[in-house]
Amino acid sequence: MRFFVIDDSPSIVAIVTHALREAGHEVESTCAPQDALEAVVAFKPDAILLDLVMPVMDGFELCVHLRKLPELNQTKIIILSGKSYEFDKRRAKGVGADAFLVKQAMIASPEKFLQEVLAVMAKNITLSYWGTRGTLPVPGKDALRYGGNTLCVSVAVDNEPLLIFDAGTGITRLAKHLSAQAMPRITAKLFISHPHWDHINAIPFFTPLYVQGNEVEIIGPAHGHISFREIVSAQMDDVYFPVTIRDFGARVFFRDIREETLNIGHFEIKSILLNHPGTCLGYRITHNGRSICYITDNELYPADAPLHNPEHEERLDRFVAGADILITDCTYLDEEYATKMGWGHSRPREVAALADRANVRSLHLFHHDPSQDDAAIDRKLAQAVQHLQRLNSKVECVCPVEESTYVLGSRTI
Ligand SMILES: [Zn+2]
Ligand SMILES: [Zn+2]
Repeated sequence: MRFFVIDDSPSIVAIVTHALREAGHEVESTCAPQDALEAVVAFKPDAILLDLVMPVMDGFELCVHLRKLPELNQTKIIILSGKSYEFDKRRAKGVGADAFLVKQAMIASPEKFLQEVLAVMAKNITLSYWGTRGTLPVPGKDALRYGGNTLCVSVAVDNEPLLIFDAGTGITRLAKHLSAQAMPRITAKLFISHPHWDHINAIPFFTPLYVQGNEVEIIGPAHGHISFREIVSAQMDDVYFPVTIRDFGARVFFRDIREETLNIGHFEIKSILLNHPGTCLGYRITHNGRSICYITDNELYPADAPLHNPEHEERLDRFVAGADILITDCTYLDEEYATKMGWGHSRPREVAALADRANVRSLHLFHHDPSQDDAAIDRKLAQAVQHLQRLNSKVECVCPVEESTYVLGSRTI
């Protein structure tokens, strides 16, 4: 990105410039605010970092002038001040600044400062739930509130490829949504956690795969010598389904994935092996310093269970640490788990403890057992909330409803 720094202190300009350039950004600067307007317009920065207390022209006054320029209507203005009084913050907001950062914190930790800047610059990330059930779809009156489709979520950022996680029956709702948008062409990456039925059974019904001009990459873990392409191809063998993968009209690619890091547009996607029969991967999606973790299907063994593995637990803790949203398998109610241990799924007690240890901001319970009606899912949510309260945790907890969306916006004053 392009940044313009305006500060009468050459040493502050030097520190900020160094930090931003080290991170690969373009920077121009001036110590003379009275001459800044012309240079800023010529440079057209993504953001201006602006000091407040300057002898010739103060930052508030300059901000008013900058906000009058139509050429800069997409440019963010970040105040970088030596003071942090509420009064100054309110005034900065009033004259059109987008964010207020403090110089002392920047000097103490340039890395943290960079994260803060990225959080201000971040585009909205829209997380949408299209299906939240594990194992089997649940049609009918028992699933009217939370929805009955099997797993599918999407992560969308403007001008980036659409990311989709799992292709349970919920993906048909996503297809309907996409066709209603009348987008000329869809570029999507479809990540599959593992090829159990509830995660793949609607791949053949994802209509964008049959539309010429679309491009979809299907990414999932191979199973031994069976590639992910072979897994999907076998599912669409004509014994099971009359349409084969040769009938896809879109450009469709397949990729086998292990534990690795992929860069897709401005997304970084990391994968981790989970505790589940067969090869199952969880994903951490990061965009401009914001993170969502998608961890299903996964069994978190209680600490006193014979198969509890502290090393595995710590590894997952590190993988999800500090995420804005942790979407995770919470298939069973606490009391149901005793008879289901070893089936590869989790319950509220351990899920809440994971979210608390990893200090995530928001915990989303996911992959509900098909035997549970809406009231049972309410009880499961209440159990998770109680565990978090008992732990004195700051983590917020929700059970997302089918077709609901959560927006991670940029951080402002
Ligand atoms: Zn599943
Ligand atoms: Zn599974």
